[in-house]
Amino acid sequence: MSETIRRQIKKKCTGLDIPLVGFAPAGRWDEPLFEPWVPEAFRPRAIFPETNTVIVIGLPVSLPIIESAPSIWYHELYRTVNTLLDQAGFRIASALTADGYPSVWIPRDGYGSISVLKDRPVAFFSHRHAAFLAGLGNFGTNNMLLTPEFGPRVRFASILTTAEIRPDPVLEKPLCIQCGRCVKACPVQAFDGEAYPRGLTDRKTCAARSEALANRYISPCGICILVCPVGEDRKRYGHTETDMYDESNPAYSRYHRAWKHVRSYGGQ
Ligand code: SF4
Ligand code: SF4
Repeated sequence: MSETIRRQIKKKCTGLDIPLVGFAPAGRWDEPLFEPWVPEAFRPRAIFPETNTVIVIGLPVSLPIIESAPSIWYHELYRTVNTLLDQAGFRIASALTADGYPSVWIPRDGYGSISVLKDRPVAFFSHRHAAFLAGLGNFGTNNMLLTPEFGPRVRFASILTTAEIRPDPVLEKPLCIQCGRCVKACPVQAFDGEAYPRGLTDRKTCAARSEALANRYISPCGICILVCPVGEDRKRYGHTETDMYDESNPAYSRYHRAWKHVRSYGGQ
């Protein structure tokens, strides 16, 4: 198990302004921790048979911007974060390969377009499960991976590498407090309200809303992500009260005015 490569990757991530990085041995996918589990064809070694370690990197989406969602502001943030993540994943995989450890990067999405997602609502690899197995967080009722640092407000990409790198432990203590805010806030009632992994998410209905927003250049939806109270980022921005998202609450009218202004420009 290489400690040196681990240090080098972490240093590279710091240089790329990537705050979250975790390491999982490929064998972890073969030991289901709950059901339903990752089907065999979606596991790292089924995709890149030489994989020994999966490196997962995460970039946050800024809370005050996602609070304006759906909006052109969040739309552009999402695109920017995705681009940065993909570039970082590509660069890490290329550097490892050049150093003698053949590696491949898997982009943060893998479905082509939202209209495709309506028919086939999964990608060929789950970064959420990879991030879970790399110790970066665990699942919430909103079907997202919650992290201590940013709650669900983070995007992931993964690098499959032949390098054997010391892994991180899986984060066992649940972060989701089952407050139900995501369930109540979803504008299309996509959640049945049960805790993960029992809970069902109507992905097609969620994808249909995202498609409608994309047609207006204000996707993604983001509502179930922004209302989640988990994440140190709330303290950093001083936005710890999730009551602020009740736009009939006059105590937070300065925020509501700001969001209304942003939503009045760009796609609507
Ligand atoms: S992204 Fe929007 S539509 Fe989809 S589950 Fe979350 S709140 Fe509901
Ligand atoms: S909003 Fe509440 S129930 Fe939903 S994921 Fe976050 S902590 Fe869990």
